Amino acid sequence: MKDKTVCVCPPEVSHEGFASLATPVYRASTIAFPNAAAFANRADRGPNGYVYGLHGTPTSRTLEAAISALEGAAHTMLQPSGQASISVVFLALLKPGDTVLIPDCAYPPVSSLCNGYLAERGIAHRVYDPLIGGDIAGLIDDSVKLVWVESPGSATMEVQDLPAIAKAAHDRGVPVGIDNTWASPLHFKPLAYGADIVVEALTKYFGGHSDLLMGSVSVNGDVLYDKLKSTMTMLGIGVSPDDCSLVLRGMETMAVRLKHGSDVALDFAKRMAEIIDPALILHPALPTHPQHGMWRRDFAGASALFSLMIPADMADELDGLIDQAQTFSIGASWGGTHSLMVPMAIGTMRQFVGNAPSGLVLRLSIGMEDPDDLWADLAPILAPIARHQPA
Ligand SMILES: *Cc1c(COP(=O)(O)O)cnc(C)c1O
Repeated sequence: MKDKTVCVCPPEVSHEGFASLATPVYRASTIAFPNAAAFANRADRGPNGYVYGLHGTPTSRTLEAAISALEGAAHTMLQPSGQASISVVFLALLKPGDTVLIPDCAYPPVSSLCNGYLAERGIAHRVYDPLIGGDIAGLIDDSVKLVWVESPGSATMEVQDLPAIAKAAHDRGVPVGIDNTWASPLHFKPLAYGADIVVEALTKYFGGHSDLLMGSVSVNGDVLYDKLKSTMTMLGIGVSPDDCSLVLRGMETMAVRLKHGSDVALDFAKRMAEIIDPALILHPALPTHPQHGMWRRDFAGASALFSLMIPADMADELDGLIDQAQTFSIGASWGGTHSLMVPMAIGTMRQFVGNAPSGLVLRLSIGMEDPDDLWADLAPILAPIARHQPA
């Protein structure tokens, strides 16, 4: 071989005995075929075969297989963010004239997708009370082609009755999708409770270090899988193997991170309940939480994310108080090693009051710092809440 060719095609080396514990990062756009006929017949490899880097590499397939195993799913597909996972589901299942039902507590960009992109293309949505349960049957007319669930709801922690909602939807032949990011499949397995589609924002606990974005969609049905996978192919959606390898690395410690964060979060919630009205603490694992019974029925554990309802007449003080925090950072996203606090004005976005009639919540994500340092940031916020709370 001449020099220029060696530069492009280095000699093959032995892999024998190289038993690394890490999943290799396989990068590819081109997948080379052994001959022209194999290339011509590449569609025969099916949706799980390797034909082009966009559609999967052994690195992304390893991550998909791990998520499928955790979810109890036959198929998992990866998208470049949790929000992209949700939009892939909506775009694959809905067409002009159809309606999707979304809970009032949904991650806010889901409403933006429905109010903006989908509405402009003749796809309607209806917002339902997250506590509706089986009565959702009354909202399912012939135009409804997807029921979306998020449990517990972003920010306000409404636990939804997934089995009852799924039964009502399935009675009318409508599939149910759920955003399971709060619990992760370690603490809730929605496919076993009636969901047809489960989305995880891998950005949160799976990645776990606030340094990557990714999402997953898992399903059991082959028809659903073909629909979702072909939509992704047509839209050109795929993920980087480097990011997959970071998620695979994060996953190795996910169980201990989630256990630590959820233990500290619940301990904090219990300590808070001695200082402020427990009704202001939106944490499903607290016995005072309105849907605690349902949470215990369905979930194997909690998350490290919970919220405090801020009394309305304290709203002006909140920003000044959280600016004093030394260890918590202020910012969106969650599920990383750094603890986060973020004020959220729910009142302006909601049609149903759900768990947060005050309209302003402070959402807390507990990370890996020393709990004493975190509590030192929280104590100065709790005292004014106690002073302002309704008697
Ligand atoms: C963060 C989040 C998402 C979106 O994930 P991204 O990767 O940030 O797009 C979706 N649902 C919930 C509940 C989330 O918290």
